[in-house]
Amino acid sequence: MTNFTKQEIIDILKDNSRNDWLFSHADRVRKDNTGDEIHLRGLIEFSNTCSRTCKYCGLRAENSRIDRYRMTVEEITECAQKAVNAGYKTIVLQSGEDYSYTTNTLCKIIETIKKLDTAVTLSIGERSFEDYKAFKDAGADRFLIRIETTDKNLYNQMHPNMSFENRLRCIKDLKKLGYETGTGCLVGLAGQTIESLADDILFFKDINADMIGIGPFIPHPNTPLAKNPAGNLTLALKVMALTRIMLPDINIPATTAMETLNPKGRIMALQSGANVIMPNVTTADFSTKYEIYPNKSGTGEHIEQRKQIEDLIKSIGRTVSKTQGFRKDNKSSK
Ligand code: SAM
Ligand code: SF4
Repeated sequence: MTNFTKQEIIDILKDNSRNDWLFSHADRVRKDNTGDEIHLRGLIEFSNTCSRTCKYCGLRAENSRIDRYRMTVEEITECAQKAVNAGYKTIVLQSGEDYSYTTNTLCKIIETIKKLDTAVTLSIGERSFEDYKAFKDAGADRFLIRIETTDKNLYNQMHPNMSFENRLRCIKDLKKLGYETGTGCLVGLAGQTIESLADDILFFKDINADMIGIGPFIPHPNTPLAKNPAGNLTLALKVMALTRIMLPDINIPATTAMETLNPKGRIMALQSGANVIMPNVTTADFSTKYEIYPNKSGTGEHIEQRKQIEDLIKSIGRTVSKTQGFRKDNKSSK
C-alpha cells in the first residue's frame, strides 16, 4: 500500500506528464486488491424533493422550476423487486433530504427490500444518530454521504444553513454504527484548490472510508453556480486514481458525472481504479425529473438495459460480480 504525503499528492495532481503512469498504477492496484469483478448497484432515485439549498445542485429547495415527485412505498419496493429480478444484488435508495419520509416509513421500505435478499445502501443525507441506528436495525447495509469538500470555508460557502461539523458527525456516526460508509467529493467547485483536494484524499484515508465517489462538478442552469465552468474530468480521474492507490481494497464507482462529461468517462474510470457502476433503475418517468445537473447520463435508463452494461464490462475484459460486493468480499476474493 502506498501512503503518499500531502506534498506528493499535490505534486502528482499538478503534474500532467505522469498521468498515464498514475492511471495504470491505480488500475493495477484495483486488479490486485478487488479483482476484475465489477459490482452493479441498482440506483432508485425515490424523491427529488429537498429541504437543502446546496448551491451546485438542481434539486435545491429554491429551484422552483423543477417538477417535484415523491415515489410511494409501493412504487419504491416494486422498482426494487424488478431490479432484483434483473440480477441486481444491491439496491441504492437515493433522494433529496426529504423528511416527509419518516423514520418508520423508511424502515418499512428497508425491511421489505431486505426480504428480496439484496444489500441496501442509503443515500438520503443528514439524519440523527437515532435515525441512522433505526435504519441499520431495519437492515440497511451501507450509506453514502459525501463530505463534498474538506475545505471548511468552501463547504460553508456552498452549503447555506448547513454545518461542516454536522456533516462530519454523520460520517462518524455511520462508521460507529457499523455501516459500510461511503463518502467523496466534488471536483471543480469555484475556489477549490489542489491543496484542498489533497486534503480530501487524506481525509478518506484517515476515516478509512469503505466507498468513495468522486464527481466532477457540472453546472445546473437554475442554481447560483449556473455560470461556473464544469470540473475537469482528468483532474477528477486523478483524484479517484490516487484514492484507489491510498485505499486499495475499497469500492469506487465510475460516477455518472464522469460519464456525463465524456461518453467514455465510465470506461476511463473503470480503467483508472473504479470497480463499481451504479446504473439507474428508477422508472423513467421519475428519473428524468431527478435533474441534479443537465443531461445526466443514465437518466431514463431502463432495468432492461442491464445487458448493454454487461456487454460493456465484458468488452474491457472484466466480469459482473455475482456477490453483494462488500469491502470484505474484495479481501476474500484476492
Ligand atoms: N441529498 C443527498 C446528499 O446530498 O447526500 C443525496 C443525493 S445528492 C443529489 C448526491 C450527490 O450529488 C451529492 O453528494 C453531490 O456531490 C452530487 N451533486 C449534486 N449536484 C451536483 C452537480 N451540479 N454536479 C455534480 N455532482 C452533483
Ligand atoms: Fe439536496 Fe443533496 Fe442536492 Fe444538497 S446535494 S440540494 S442535500 S439533493
